[in-house]
This record gives sequence, C-alpha cells and structure tokens, in this order.
Amino acid sequence: MLDLTPKEVAERKALRINPCKTCQPVGAMYCALGVHKCMPHSHGSQGCCSYHRTVLSRHFKEPAIASSSSFTEGASVFGGRSNINTSVKNVFDLYDPDIMAVHTTCLSETIGDDLTSYIMDMDLPEGKYVVHTNTPSYVGSHINGFYNMMMGFMSYLTKKTGTSNGKAAIFPGWVNPGDTRELKRIAELMKVPYIMFPDHSGVMDAPMTGKYEYYPKGGTTIPEIEALGDCDHVFGLGDIISVEPVEFMEKKYKVPGTLLPMPVGVAATDAFIMALREFSKTEIPYALEEERGQLVDLLLDCTQYSYQKKAAIFGDPDIIIGMTALALEMGMIPKYVITGTPKEEFTRKVKAMLEAYGVEDCIVKANADLFELHQWIKNEPVDVLIGSSYGKQIAKAEDIPFVRAGFPVLDRYGGPLMPTVGYRGAIRYVEKIINALMDRIDRDSADEDFDVVM
Ligand code: SF4
Repeated sequence: MLDLTPKEVAERKALRINPCKTCQPVGAMYCALGVHKCMPHSHGSQGCCSYHRTVLSRHFKEPAIASSSSFTEGASVFGGRSNINTSVKNVFDLYDPDIMAVHTTCLSETIGDDLTSYIMDMDLPEGKYVVHTNTPSYVGSHINGFYNMMMGFMSYLTKKTGTSNGKAAIFPGWVNPGDTRELKRIAELMKVPYIMFPDHSGVMDAPMTGKYEYYPKGGTTIPEIEALGDCDHVFGLGDIISVEPVEFMEKKYKVPGTLLPMPVGVAATDAFIMALREFSKTEIPYALEEERGQLVDLLLDCTQYSYQKKAAIFGDPDIIIGMTALALEMGMIPKYVITGTPKEEFTRKVKAMLEAYGVEDCIVKANADLFELHQWIKNEPVDVLIGSSYGKQIAKAEDIPFVRAGFPVLDRYGGPLMPTVGYRGAIRYVEKIINALMDRIDRDSADEDFDVVM
C-alpha cells in the first residue's frame, strides 16, 4: 500500500503528508463529552461535525453525541448568528442537556463570528448554560482544541468564593476513560479528595443497559466545574496539554498548580503519586507499592528481549513522551519520536529524556508527519512501531511489529476501557510491546529454534 514511499528524504516546509494529528474541534468535542449532561455543539457546517463525531465514535466504539449550526451558503456569507440561535433553542427543546459547549470551525473562524456577543444576547431556558471556545483548525491540533475547551468551561463557570473546598483539581489531559478510572483509583488510594476535569469515565465507556441514554451517568458536573476555583491545588497531567489550563487556574483563581508528565511508566507514575502524597500527607498504601514492584519485576524479567531494541513512537505529545519514557525504562532505543502537534516543548522534553539515559542518534520532531517517519524507517529500520492505527500501513509495508497506543485506535476493540497510565497501565504496555517483539522472534524462528519456552 505504501510501497511507493521514496527512501530519499526531501526538505518540506508547508506540505504535510499523512498528518500525525487531527483538527482542533475534535479535541473540543472530546473535552465537552467529559462534562455531565453536556451537548457539544459544532458552529460550522454539518460535514465538520460529522467527521469529528465519526473519529471519536470509531475510537471509543461509543456514540459521540454533538449538534451542529448546520451552515450552508447563507451563513457562510452573512455569518452564523441566526443559525446558532436556532440551534440552541432546538437543542434545549429536543435534547434537554444542562449545558451546551460550542466550538468553532475553520468556516466560522474565517467569517469571524463573534460567539461571545451571540451567547451574551441569547435568551436561555432557566438553569441552562452555553459556553464556548474558539478552535480555528488551521493552527494547532486536537490537543489545542481540548485544552481550549477546558478553559472555555472554566471562563464561563468557575468561581472563587474564597472558602476552600479542601479538594485537589486533577486535569487528566487527553486520556481514555480507562485511564480516568485508574487516576481516580490512585487518588482514592492516596486519600485525595478531588475534582477530575474532564471525566470521560461513565460516558465514553458507559455500560450496555439495553436502553440508550443521551447523557450517561458520568462526566464532571457543572457544580464541580464551578467549584474548581475553590480547590487548594491543581495537578495538571501532561506537561504539554495541561500547561495552559494550569496557568489559567493559577492566574485567574490563585489556585497553586503542579504540572506533571502523563503518568506512564515507573518514574512518571512515581512523580504523580509523590505529588498526591505531598497534598494529602498520606503514606503510600501497600497496594500501590505492590503494583510498582510487579512492574519493576516485569521490566527486569523481559529486559533480555527489550534491551537495545529500536522503536519508532508517534502520536499525541503527552502520551508519546510517556511511551518514550516507558521504552527507555525497558532499555529500548526510541530511534524516532514524533508528534504532529506543533509544540517545540515536546522536542525539548524528549531530547532531555534521551540525554538522561545516554541514548544518542535519535530523531525527535514536533509538527512532523507519518510520511517522513516512514522515510526514516526505510533508511534505518526499527524493531517495533508504537502509535495510533494510522501506523498500520507503515508496519505492513516495512514488516515491523506494531503496537497500538494513543489516539485514534480505530481498528481494535477494548483499548479505551483499559489504562495506559499508572503502574497497571505500564504493565499492560510492557506486555504488549514485549509480546509483539517475541511474536516476531517466533514467526522468524527456524523449526529447530521454535520452542514453547522463551
Ligand atoms: S474544515 Fe476545519 S474544522 Fe472542519 S473538519 Fe476540516 S479542519 Fe476540521
């Protein structure tokens, strides 16, 4: 399928081929789905909204509800005020959410629709809310859209009463609901009272009950978002995606913040747990120590198969920083590490990790695409490819073991229910990576070397 990708790498500046990202509104929509009884709303044409819903539904295997301002030629010329007014009335009448979270699209941004004034002028039903954020998709990626939507919710809803609620705000960043559940479990074990924002558990992993519900039980509630300003501390996970929301909390509500790497692997999970310990002044329970010990044991057991194996790792910045950390803990060489999100901080962080492990001759790049990753692999192959489903064509063309991680995983089931974060998440990914490498050994073994014991 990708057999014609040339080996010679040509310098490109403007063109992206097989981008390693998607557009801002996808992130805004995902963020909004992590708020209880929220209807994400796409202010643009139906085509944009359909695409954003589709990519989320295909990853989570759950319906991603959203409404659209349904722009046609008229709105494109005269602006979308009347479209959004009609949409908001219809959505509250027909679907009865508690809140609508509006994000813009390329078209409405190009027209220059002023959503702040449109929303101020709306006559909303009693007790209902509309919030918004701007998500021009010709800059940034879905990661920007995600944190922009977080700040949209906070700008409209969060208050500071001056009376502490004794809680920690935890911003989990872009993770699967299985991760959110794991982060909540760890916080509870560490006896930290918390507000998780956003919270996709119970929404994007809602159980089959036989009855479809627009608004399943989960999600951060409106009172919880309002109360974020009264938290004693904010922990932002993912030191790319959570930078701006944490700064926002510090500046606007004077809530002190700690920015942490996505807790993937031993060291990053340790950092998260130690930060929680500092907050709650609680001893680390044996359950967590035991899980950590199991992970370290597993890393030692399989090091003979992982040591010095080369990996190409691609995807969203924070999860890829985490996967790179885990690969280094496995003794591997992260030969190529790329994200499509244009954040140079990503490059600096990954290079610092490689330096700390004394690993050299790796290529690290932000704002990169899968075409150039494929070209690098053609020039110097790797032992395993780690990333979203969009890597499967490269894996097939180059005959490389492939481990799916991050977003989106469109061609496998069950992943969003499971953690990547925490010691348990790391155990899961060490198993996936090591088994992919060992499956390859089995496949390539001569009959006399093919054994049931490895
Ligand atoms: S037009 Fe813009 S907002 Fe719509 S799908 Fe394309 S990139 Fe995304």
